[in-house]
Amino acid sequence: MMIPQKVADQLNEQVKNEFFAAWTYLSMAYAFETMGLKIFAKWFFKQAEEEREHAEKIAQYLLDQGAEVKLTALDKPATQFKSAEEIVAGAVAHEKQVTQNIHDLVDLARSENDKATENFLQWFVEEQVEEVASTTELLDMVKMAQGPGQLFMLENRLYHMLESK
Ligand code: MG
Repeated sequence: MMIPQKVADQLNEQVKNEFFAAWTYLSMAYAFETMGLKIFAKWFFKQAEEEREHAEKIAQYLLDQGAEVKLTALDKPATQFKSAEEIVAGAVAHEKQVTQNIHDLVDLARSENDKATENFLQWFVEEQVEEVASTTELLDMVKMAQGPGQLFMLENRLYHMLESK
C-alpha cells in the first residue's frame, strides 16, 4: 500500500459519507415526488447520482494506491420532511458537513506528509465549493417562494438550471 493506513481508513470513512449523501438525497427526491414537485425530485435524483460517483472516485483512488475498499452499513436517512424549505435547508447543512469532512481529510493527508492524497483531494475541495453554492442558491429561491403555487413556478427555473448543468 502506497498511502498511510490512517489515511486509507479515513478515505474509507469518506466513501461511506458520500454513499450516505447519496442515500440522503434519494430520500429527499422521493419526498419531493410525494409532494408533486417533480423537478425538485429530478434535481435531487441527479445529486444522489453525483454523490455515488464521488464515493466511487474515492474507492478507485484507494484501489489505485493498493489499499482495501471497505464498505460498511449506512445510517437511516431522514424520511419525514415538513416542507420543501426544510428539505433544501437539510441539503445545505449536509453539504457543509461533507465540506468539513473533506477539509479534515486534507489536514490528515498533510500531517501524514501524504502528497498524493492531498493532491487527489483538491478536486473534492473545489467540488464542495460548487455544491455548497448551488444548494444555497436553491435554498434562497425556495425561501422567496410563497406557497405551493410559487414552488411550481420555481420548478420551471430549476428545469432550465438542470438542463445547463
Ligand atoms: Mg459528494
